Amino acid sequence: MPLKPPVRYHDLADTQAQPRHTGIPTFFRTPHTEALDEVDIGIIGVPFDGGVTHRSGARHGPRAVRAQSALLRRYNGVTGVAPFAGARVRDLGDCWIEFPYQLEAALDEIAGFYRAVVAAGVVPLSVGGDHSVSLPILRAVGAARPVGMVHVDAHCDTGDDYMGSRFHHGAPFRRAVEEGLLDPARVVQIGIRGTTNDPDMWGFSQQSGMRVIGIDEFDDIGWRAAADEARRVVGPGPAYLSFDIDSLDPAEAPGTGTPEAGGIRMREALRLLRALRGLDFVGADLVEVAPPFDVGDLTAFNGASVLFEALCLLAEARAARG
Ligand code: MN
Ligand code: MN
Repeated sequence: MPLKPPVRYHDLADTQAQPRHTGIPTFFRTPHTEALDEVDIGIIGVPFDGGVTHRSGARHGPRAVRAQSALLRRYNGVTGVAPFAGARVRDLGDCWIEFPYQLEAALDEIAGFYRAVVAAGVVPLSVGGDHSVSLPILRAVGAARPVGMVHVDAHCDTGDDYMGSRFHHGAPFRRAVEEGLLDPARVVQIGIRGTTNDPDMWGFSQQSGMRVIGIDEFDDIGWRAAADEARRVVGPGPAYLSFDIDSLDPAEAPGTGTPEAGGIRMREALRLLRALRGLDFVGADLVEVAPPFDVGDLTAFNGASVLFEALCLLAEARAARG
């Protein structure tokens, strides 16, 4: 007996027309495609955590965030932004990595994937994976000119060699500055905290001219002033958004490899992101969701919620560019 002829999930004009627990999970239930000419904003999984220095597991992040993203709907209920209405938002699947156990080769493969995406005019929204993947993404996004960046994280990720590698998840933004992909004078890092083994572990951030808003300053000035400072530092040029889920308090994001106590609350993070409207974001990522450490899918759900705000920022910025 033949299967009931399905309405092709990929072709559903309305991704909310079927019950949300049905179908193969894609980001926000958007159609999956590999045809870049049919895409304005491409959401991409990067299931790679070969850059993790301690607790691995972020390779499982894209799948978990895809599943939880079914809880998100069409409109941003606070800002009214409708990211799916004005742009062709598609799930481009996972960045395929043929050499997942060779760190630098894998990063080269990721860069190649993103060069094709950027060359097609597609705005990339990525889900890691550990934070090492932001470097190869920036090798595409920042290839034409260095970009600014809003970086929300417990860690500056501007370290150097660690046990023989310069490309682990604690160093992507130092490498990105060295490779001319990031303009450090237009970079703001928010939520930094935790213990270090070296009193100057993140010295490169200050030395290169990045603006670092540590968690105590964030706590003192609040999300609104932090967003104002981010807008001042990043200014009007093209910018990237990189959101490490370990910026959040472990109470709201236990599923991550490098938690640090006393972090940003989810409500503050959402307000911070919404207050970044108007910046010219040309790409964004959400990284370090590690489902093996998660509790009740809380981290993946909060990650999907951050991803939705990032999508709204990208959609508005793309519309503003015309
Ligand atoms: Mn990070
Ligand atoms: Mn981090």
